[in-house]
Amino acid sequence: MTEIELDPVGRQVVQHAQTLSQLRRDLDRLASELADTYADVHSRLDELATGRTSVSTPWSWRTIGPNAQEELSTELRRWVRWIRARYPLAKKVPSCWEEHPEVVEELTALWVAWQAAYEERDPSLTAAAEWHDRWLPGLLHRLEHGPFALDCSDSHHSRPASCYAPSDSVTSPQ
Ligand SMILES: [Zn+2]
Repeated sequence: MTEIELDPVGRQVVQHAQTLSQLRRDLDRLASELADTYADVHSRLDELATGRTSVSTPWSWRTIGPNAQEELSTELRRWVRWIRARYPLAKKVPSCWEEHPEVVEELTALWVAWQAAYEERDPSLTAAAEWHDRWLPGLLHRLEHGPFALDCSDSHHSRPASCYAPSDSVTSPQ
């Protein structure tokens, strides 16, 4: 591609356009961070109003902001891909798992338990065994048995909306 020779005014226009573009990216990033901060402040105000003093965890879909949700989604997706490839049993987790909010919650909890067993500095020596003996089979069993078992082995089937309570009082769970 040949470079077009620009006069000084043209160069200034290009520089201004580049600056504007950078400012727009900065603004998008700040807006995203602000949304996360807002979610955090909202959660803390809620705690103050209700007298609860609990600290929200970074894996709480109910309270984290959109940026944190995006990061959590990416990490969880990567980990679920790994367990589905690592354990033949884990193929029971359907590929449409992200379409089921309760399965997202279940897998998040399973992932946190896995991290406690494998990525904590001083894990309990039985944590990994418990994860295999209890947490993983428990989730796989719930996916296939009981009144809320999934029916997605061949293809995704959405649950009827009537399965869920109205969400107007809930703040953006995944
Ligand atoms: Zn499904």
